[in-house]
Amino acid sequence: MKFATKALHAGVEPDPTTGAIMTPIYQTSTFVQASPGNHKGYAYARGKNPTRNQLEKNIAALENAKYGLCFSSGMGAADAVIKLLRPGDEVITGDDLYGGTYRMFTKVFAHYGIKFHFINLADANNISKYLNEKTKLIWVETPTNPTMQIVDIQACSAIAKKHGCILAVDNTFASPYLQNPMELGADIVMHSVTKYLGGHSDVVMGALCMNDDKIYEQLAFIHNSCGATPGPMDSFLVLRGIKTLHLRMERHCFNGKKIAEFLKSHPKIDKVYWPGFTDHPNHEIAKKQMRDFGGMISFDIKSRKKEDAFKIASSVKVFSLAESLGGVESLINHPATMTHASVPAEERARVGVTDSLLRLSVGVEDIDDLLEDLKQALS
Ligand SMILES: *Cc1c(COP(=O)(O)O)cnc(C)c1O
Repeated sequence: MKFATKALHAGVEPDPTTGAIMTPIYQTSTFVQASPGNHKGYAYARGKNPTRNQLEKNIAALENAKYGLCFSSGMGAADAVIKLLRPGDEVITGDDLYGGTYRMFTKVFAHYGIKFHFINLADANNISKYLNEKTKLIWVETPTNPTMQIVDIQACSAIAKKHGCILAVDNTFASPYLQNPMELGADIVMHSVTKYLGGHSDVVMGALCMNDDKIYEQLAFIHNSCGATPGPMDSFLVLRGIKTLHLRMERHCFNGKKIAEFLKSHPKIDKVYWPGFTDHPNHEIAKKQMRDFGGMISFDIKSRKKEDAFKIASSVKVFSLAESLGGVESLINHPATMTHASVPAEERARVGVTDSLLRLSVGVEDIDDLLEDLKQALS
């Protein structure tokens, strides 16, 4: 099945009792058993809920994976992956991570004896310098947030396979429409479903996809044991959101390209971070592993003044100043004070997250209105 058909139909069955075409919201915590242990595969809703199960199958199909697990947030999903590790284990990851992931690694799991190496993954060869017998996981985000670096998933996978460690890819920014890390050798794909998959800024959710039976069993055990599972109402909303993922992504990419080009030619703007530019350092890899370049764009202004960035962020009228991304509506964000406030200033400066950097999540509005809005905000 092709992507658009899978988005609508994969994993989704009409309700067996009524024929309802939309998956019912099974708003129940428990399921009646005929005799002890004799149930229809559902016992308690933390473990399994029919609405959630259909969503898990649907997301797995979009990532061409055998298994899917949905979590109550993207961080809940990432948390489960780190719980595969033991004290003393080491993780190699990027130095330009989602702020919340960086915070969880450094402020939560570092206290459990897990060591994280934050390195520049734009060149995958850097990994070998940090590999040792304790390395159990390589955690990759691509495109990175917010400086839109591209990490070569296939190159990371070759290193992970040779070394016998797990490669997990946070595929939130690309969405399964633009990139399928599993096909490039990833063992686990993670999503903040909150973003493009949900797509309507009305749900917080996470997901993991995998092919390996053993990794699935371990993660399914953690999923049920630790309990960060989403409710049926949220599962329904995401199933509904995904039905238009391909249509939304097409428009996000179309609008994103126009806006990236507009920003690049604007006299007040210095750098524009977007992997679709032919002069982007890893444009060739982006072309190879992504189907298009998406609607996430960051830019830095020539004056390098925080006040000027604040002025732009507060002058927009169609864009909204807010955290998050991937929804139908366009958002603007000031990473240094918003999404990346939990990353120390020295660390931010090192990767280019200056006080004048702004990030756009380009929505699906009419491109003329979006361009007009940026023009007036920059004037
Ligand atoms: C938002 C986000 C997360 C965290 O997901 P939540 O659903 O907010 O918990 C992780 N990674 C990336 C790239 C994100 O954008």
